Amino acid sequence: MKPILRLDKVCKHFGGVVAAENVSFSVMPGEIHGLIGPNGAGKSTLMNLISGIYTPDSGSVFLNEEDLSNIPSHMRARMGIGRTFQTPRFLQRSNIKDNLLLGTDLANQMGYFKSYFSKKGRNFGEELNDLMKYLDFTIDWEDDINSLAYGQRKQLEIVRSMLSHPKVMLVDEPAAGLNNKEIDDVMVLLNHAAKDLGIGVLLIEHSMDMIMNICENIVVLCFGKVIAMGGPAVISCNEAVIEAYLGRDLDA
Ligand code: ADP
Ligand code: MG
Repeated sequence: MKPILRLDKVCKHFGGVVAAENVSFSVMPGEIHGLIGPNGAGKSTLMNLISGIYTPDSGSVFLNEEDLSNIPSHMRARMGIGRTFQTPRFLQRSNIKDNLLLGTDLANQMGYFKSYFSKKGRNFGEELNDLMKYLDFTIDWEDDINSLAYGQRKQLEIVRSMLSHPKVMLVDEPAAGLNNKEIDDVMVLLNHAAKDLGIGVLLIEHSMDMIMNICENIVVLCFGKVIAMGGPAVISCNEAVIEAYLGRDLDA
């Protein structure tokens, strides 16, 4: 099986700041791959390099072994790179349904709207209800997006990304600001995305609980460099990783 996402020696500097230095790793379809490291390590920068918001100084990003170097951000989204942001981004003064439909707009090119408007096949509402089963709250789709609690909006960002049928989903700190119950629900949703839908998930998260629970593989960044890679058991007792997190409890 070939990787759905592969980074090959990706470098990115901002002036004197080394945000990524020779970063190489792969994500397989159906895998939840953790991306961890202290604040400022370069995690979000990598997601921006993968989604095409930033251009690497050197090195390449591959989707299904296709080099994305000359492909702009909006095309990458259509090709199957979905993402969520550290802080949820929604259209203000719009209802929940319209905000979620934005996700499917990307899938427009893949004939998604055809199925949305046709009587046959799965439609938007059906698919949405399916995904909402993994989250423990019900909503009125016509309500204003701001009627939702912060945690609910963060959870819906993942749903929105999934509605665009990504091949790879980049998820930046989904647990931040969520209560324990919401975090559990997000884990179930991400597992569904990977295990049932075959999406390759790249997960940035500070919650070690979450990372160690649901990631098969983890890559650890520090000052833009990969300092360790491996499964949860290997990573949690790796000296360089413990050093990078010094002062922070890896089990926290
Ligand atoms: P993380 O997500 O791991 O906390 P970031 O990727 O946000 O880290 O940042 C990595 C480093 O790159 C930081 O030193 C940050 O200040 C810097 N950086 C990120 N984006 C930019 C930018 N657009 N311009 C200048 N510096 C940036
Ligand atoms: Mg970040």
